Amino acid sequence: MDRMKRTPIKEQDPKVRATNFEEVCLGYTEEEAVQEASRCLNCKKPMCRTKCPVSIDIPTFVDHVKNREFEKAAKVIAKYSALPAVCGRVCPQELQCEGKCVLGIKGEPVAVGKLERFVADWAREHNVDLSATAPKKNKKVAVIGSGPSGLTCAGDLAKMGYDVTIFEALHEAGGVLVYGIPEFRLPKEKVVKSEVENVKKLGVKIETDVIVGRTITIDQLFDEENFEAVFIGSGAGLPRFMGIPGENLNGVLSANEFLTRNNLMKAFKEGYDTPIKVGKKVAVVGGGNVAMDAARTALRLGSEVHVVYRRSEAELPARAEEVHHAKEEGVNFDLLANPVEVLGDENGWVKGMKCIKMELGEPDASGRRRPTPIEGSEFILDVDTVIMSLGTAPNSLIPSTTKGLDINKRRCIVAEEETGATSREAVFAGGDAVTGAATVILAMGAGKNAAAAIDKYLTEKDK
Ligand code: FAD
Ligand code: SF4
Repeated sequence: MDRMKRTPIKEQDPKVRATNFEEVCLGYTEEEAVQEASRCLNCKKPMCRTKCPVSIDIPTFVDHVKNREFEKAAKVIAKYSALPAVCGRVCPQELQCEGKCVLGIKGEPVAVGKLERFVADWAREHNVDLSATAPKKNKKVAVIGSGPSGLTCAGDLAKMGYDVTIFEALHEAGGVLVYGIPEFRLPKEKVVKSEVENVKKLGVKIETDVIVGRTITIDQLFDEENFEAVFIGSGAGLPRFMGIPGENLNGVLSANEFLTRNNLMKAFKEGYDTPIKVGKKVAVVGGGNVAMDAARTALRLGSEVHVVYRRSEAELPARAEEVHHAKEEGVNFDLLANPVEVLGDENGWVKGMKCIKMELGEPDASGRRRPTPIEGSEFILDVDTVIMSLGTAPNSLIPSTTKGLDINKRRCIVAEEETGATSREAVFAGGDAVTGAATVILAMGAGKNAAAAIDKYLTEKDK
């Protein structure tokens, strides 16, 4: 075995997978997982762990895998994370644990994410019981939103014995994990629902179809429902648009709307009558992970897809793996181009998009080279659907209906990084609602920190 090289992982053939919604990555077998785990040096000072936002004891679980003790490995991970099968699939490990693995200095880092995924899948397939709770406390905590931050906060509090209820606006629990990230990266039935079920097994109640701020307010949760603390994990689901002419034409969608319809209304299922109109030629504007998801989804629904991004490939904010997969599947990249107008036909439908070519100048505040338009270089992209994927911001419904809850200029709830404490007593917040659109594991880390802070707050309140 060459210790410097990773054990390869099987993936669906790009030509085949471009026409289906089955998972792209097929995961390790037991043999492959043991082989990959055997590469780990079990470092005395494991740098991988320092970069994990929920501090999973990586060397210990990897060592168990090496020794074929898969159940023990699952129990180690469960101490730190309620969503390992999710994180093993969607975390940007190259920037976190794997980015710090010492083997990465001269060779390839241990595939920590793929091993985490293997262990979580193995535990699910072998019905390993991972529930562990403390004696019940007679104290009610409300969690708003069932995304990764809310599920983690709720799960940790339930483990400490609190009586926890999650209030979720949509009809399904999971946040972006169910309605945003597509099936081919994160299977809903097999992975997300089963991890949500694990959180419920800890005793967490989930009430769906409850919009906090409309159905009930935070003040009512305290005054009428006897909750003693509230965690807000309501995410950042409000899409941004460019403000260019033609953006209100039929056939212009936000990536959020497109992906939500595809996921929750099951456009990916054959024979399902879903209210999605996908064009023959689709432009996806933006270069982040959400843009890649929208592009690869449109491709699977039968469209020719063009990603339009104003900088060059080197500046694409999406994970390299996602860009690579999108290219392999046949997504076109129209780089150094920016839309200036969406063109419509006489019936108000998109019939094309006028773009302008761009060139890169000096780095801007974000450190990336600033794109500037090249005069006279306009061209028309022949498309009938435009999906805008330009980022999202938090919705202001909760702050506008809650007394004393401060937000900043970006509409994010102001909360302390270490604890999630907000300007309102007994109200904590975390995840995208506080940081703006970020990642699953950062949202989970915030949920974890807030759970510890809520426990401290309620314990001290009783003294
Ligand atoms: P969310 O997951 O947004 O959950 C918030 C929940 O709160 C939602 O269920 C919402 O319905 C609910 N809610 C909102 N308002 C209310 C209310 N008033 N009352 C009750 N409930 C409410 N991150 C990664 O790490 N890797 C990836 O590969 C990745 N891919 C992504 C792909 C897409 C398409 C998108 C959109 C995001 C992706 N992300 C990815 C980002 C990641 O999913 C988010 O950072 C993460 O889900 C944030 O978690 P959260 O708990 O803060 O919020
Ligand atoms: Fe193993 Fe890499 Fe972590 Fe060291 S840094 S313990 S080699 S995964």
